[in-house]
Amino acid sequence: MSDKPVQYRRVLLKLSGEALMGELDYGIEPKVIQRIAGEIAAAQKLGVEIAVVIGGGNIFRGAGLARAGMDRVTGDYMGMLATVMNALAIQDALEALGVYARVMSALQIHDVCEDYIRRRAVRHLEKGRVVILAAGTGNPFFTTDTAASLRAIEIGADVLLKGTKVDGVYDSDPEKHPDAKRYDVVSYDKVIHDKLNVMDATAIVLCRDNHLPLRVFDLTRANALVEAMSGDDLGTLVSA
Ligand code: UDP
Repeated sequence: MSDKPVQYRRVLLKLSGEALMGELDYGIEPKVIQRIAGEIAAAQKLGVEIAVVIGGGNIFRGAGLARAGMDRVTGDYMGMLATVMNALAIQDALEALGVYARVMSALQIHDVCEDYIRRRAVRHLEKGRVVILAAGTGNPFFTTDTAASLRAIEIGADVLLKGTKVDGVYDSDPEKHPDAKRYDVVSYDKVIHDKLNVMDATAIVLCRDNHLPLRVFDLTRANALVEAMSGDDLGTLVSA
């Protein structure tokens, strides 16, 4: 456990759908989701309010379905519904650990979860519940990265934490270029200008224009989320 003081009051954690796949090609690996839930539970025990935005790329992505011939908007709604399934799985894994959690969806699906209502989401957080924000922004042609930026700003998060399989932002793809250089700190404008692989431009611009710091870190490493709560020395910080 990190011995540094906790720096944040409220954070938004963005998880890609792929983060839930583990070794699978598709779907959710139970061991992986249990591990991530354990990380969230440990971070929450430090007293930090945690909202999670979950992607759906482990099940469907609208762009991929469109390439296969489907109407793009229909594909995007399928992608958004995929995020709802992932959100329910995270809620379940958190509750199995005794953590109170609520799925709130940008699309109305009242039989399975609450609607996303900003003030209600904030109230859940204040009461110590983990809020899992599903269905992205509720609009086609957006991504869950953009939803993460938007929701983080709406709920007044101190930081957007993007958990990935890579330990930060590099100047080129570290899997293809062994000499790729990792940034400790990088500006929003450099990310946009150099097209660094962090989040899509809409998401970065929202962070930049609203002064929301973004930290990209390796969530596959044990205890990473707890360490991220102390604010420094982990992955890459994207800021002004
Ligand atoms: N999506 C959408 N609007 C949103 C968020 C997501 O239409 O506001 C759809 C889109 O088709 C996207 C899919 O949901 O491909 C899954 O989200 P994303 O690709 O962001 O998931 P991730 O890559 O984080 O797993």
